[in-house]
Amino acid sequence: MATIKTLEELETFGLAEAVREKFSAALKNGQLVFAPSKHEQYTDEATGMRCELMIVEGLSKRPINRPTQPGSDEKISSDKLEQVKKKNPFMKPEPELTVIQDLVGEYRLILNKFPNIEEHFLMVTKEFVQQDTLLKPVELQLMHTILGQLNTSQSRFFAFFNSGPESGYSQFHKHIQFMKLPPNFEVYQDALVAGSEFFIPRELDGSEQPLMNKQLTFKHFVLKLPRKFASEEEQSTSLAMMYMYLFKRVLNVFKEQGLDSTKISYNFLMMEDWMMIIPRSHAFFDGVWQNSLGFMGLFTMKDLEVKNKVMHHGIGTILQECGFPLGSDDDRAKYDEFGY
Ligand code: AMP
Repeated sequence: MATIKTLEELETFGLAEAVREKFSAALKNGQLVFAPSKHEQYTDEATGMRCELMIVEGLSKRPINRPTQPGSDEKISSDKLEQVKKKNPFMKPEPELTVIQDLVGEYRLILNKFPNIEEHFLMVTKEFVQQDTLLKPVELQLMHTILGQLNTSQSRFFAFFNSGPESGYSQFHKHIQFMKLPPNFEVYQDALVAGSEFFIPRELDGSEQPLMNKQLTFKHFVLKLPRKFASEEEQSTSLAMMYMYLFKRVLNVFKEQGLDSTKISYNFLMMEDWMMIIPRSHAFFDGVWQNSLGFMGLFTMKDLEVKNKVMHHGIGTILQECGFPLGSDDDRAKYDEFGY
């Protein structure tokens, strides 16, 4: 188990190799709940979204540890919070799953015990921090740096963060996840950012709006990232400004809809050259649960019954019902610097 003190050290650590080795040892020793599943790829005609359906054995076995349940009006009580802290699997992670036991003093990298696909891992805080807190600049920097270390011409990783009661999260201890894209899987965000320049959005400049794919059914806001930042400081400041801008868009949506601010829920995703936010209204639709993955086109399902429901409703409907229907272009332009 490694200790990494700085971002610079992380850049020369050999993370891809360390994750790969830890994963194969843990799998061999029976420490993971994982069976490679049959994947099915198709392009959804209505939205043009590339989709991958996979039945994941571990899904029905994953522990659920939330202080409130999606769809309820419960508030988080101190009793519930204590219960969640007691059952928390991230407080003392299994050494056999731990890739980095101390990352810049505050975090650990651990394998997901119930992975969706090979080498699925998590960055968790060492101390208990709630999942519904904002991402800190250093967390965004770590996400970006980790992605930079993992991507090769053979494999592309993305990072995701499910936050808020309707985001589809299952653990309340703060965690960010990293997962590999299936082979030959094209994500729609790549095409969106390909024709765009990097900019840090400022509401005062109406021409610089977040990107969106108008064929999709759900509200989403995408920003392009530069290939490299000039310095760590620039990386930290730029990522934080961009994330806060996207988070403000989520606040806009919740305010517009007159929704309770304790329900603020969203999925945040990052790849090497973009970041994206999706405001969330519901954790599930007709028993089909969604977290960030569905909004990447990746549908993990516990059994055939759920798969049949996905096919019956269509992914456009499910994602719209779990998010917020996509409005007109003006959606992006109607707020000024101080509006939310
Ligand atoms: P989320 O459902 O987005 O909150 O992500 C939590 C993740 O933690 C799930 O993907 C679980 O598979 C994973 N998980 C649950 N228990 C453990 C554990 N003991 N060790 C490692 N990962 C876990």
